[in-house]
Amino acid sequence: MPNPKRRHSKSRGAKRRTHYKASLPALGECPNCHEQKLMHRACPNCGYYNGRAIIISKETK
Ligand SMILES: [Zn+2]
Repeated sequence: MPNPKRRHSKSRGAKRRTHYKASLPALGECPNCHEQKLMHRACPNCGYYNGRAIIISKETK
């Protein structure tokens, strides 16, 4: 593995990291209750995922 011969300056490392950005989480609409929710996650509002209830809350029972 090649190793750097000289230590890179703080500004050089910082310049490279200007492209490092936090991306927005993938948001989508719940097909059951049409609330905005995170994709590939059960809906926090109705507890549905992939067409069936995953989280059964005390309110719905
Ligand atoms: Zn929902």
